[in-house]
Amino acid sequence: MQPTITSDVVVASTQCPRKAYLFLFSPDKGIPHEYTAILAQQRGEHQERYIEGLKQTHADVYPYTVEHLRTGRGVLLHARLQADGLEAECGVLRRVEGLSPGGIPRYEPITFAGTFSITTEQKLALSFVAYMLERLQHTSPAAGKIMGLDGTAHTIKLDKSATVLLPLLAPLQAWTATDTPERPPVILNKHCPLCPFQQSCQAQAEQEDNLSLLHGVTARDIRQYAKKGIFTVKQLSYLFKLRTLIGSRALVAYDDVNGSSTANNRPWSRQCTARLFEGLTPVHVPILSE
Ligand code: SF4
Repeated sequence: MQPTITSDVVVASTQCPRKAYLFLFSPDKGIPHEYTAILAQQRGEHQERYIEGLKQTHADVYPYTVEHLRTGRGVLLHARLQADGLEAECGVLRRVEGLSPGGIPRYEPITFAGTFSITTEQKLALSFVAYMLERLQHTSPAAGKIMGLDGTAHTIKLDKSATVLLPLLAPLQAWTATDTPERPPVILNKHCPLCPFQQSCQAQAEQEDNLSLLHGVTARDIRQYAKKGIFTVKQLSYLFKLRTLIGSRALVAYDDVNGSSTANNRPWSRQCTARLFEGLTPVHVPILSE
């Protein structure tokens, strides 16, 4: 059975291709970070409080079904918008004035945050809901809302959701259409600390002596090093060792010829040598200074 592309997968694809791949295909869903779990719990409680308030003030509140969507109920709850292997979840859909070109009632989505401020990822998840809603009601919602934890309704324009989503969905749909999609390599990045797969990726990176173990080394840097035949930290360390030795010899030779000298007017100063080690973890520095 084809795996389903959910909001989590879409958001993960903008952070790390491997994370999106593992969400889609790995039977092991990792270990959610404690902070992420707290935010998810706050988000869920926030949503339920809001829904309770809606039930007190509106008579036309129904659970989401495609039938209720087509008959135009006022408020639909806990929507799961599904089509063609895609699925977006939305806490509340609210009917707005007018009909779509196909004569179907129009809705706008409301989602909930477990935080006071709104992140780019939450906006993208809302855009994915709008994209799915567009497929069901044949017209894009003009806007939607993300409810902050302090009760502030953040209005987000959604009329260009398809433009944002299509380039993100294309590689994910190519994966799900393939029998054996290739697993993206481990490239540790700024999203790892909160990722549920952090432990397994870190272990694999250490086993591979992966270049992304070095602070500040990006996917682009790794591609550049690969073109030069450098794939591990150890291989990279030999370059630094060589350049450091050359630098040290040049420094000694310069001092021999010129007598005592200050670091600042040496051709290869100690500051330059120190700069070579920037970004290397302490584990690797002894290898370089042997
Ligand atoms: S731990 Fe890092 S490299 Fe691994 S899937 Fe998560 S974000 Fe990607």
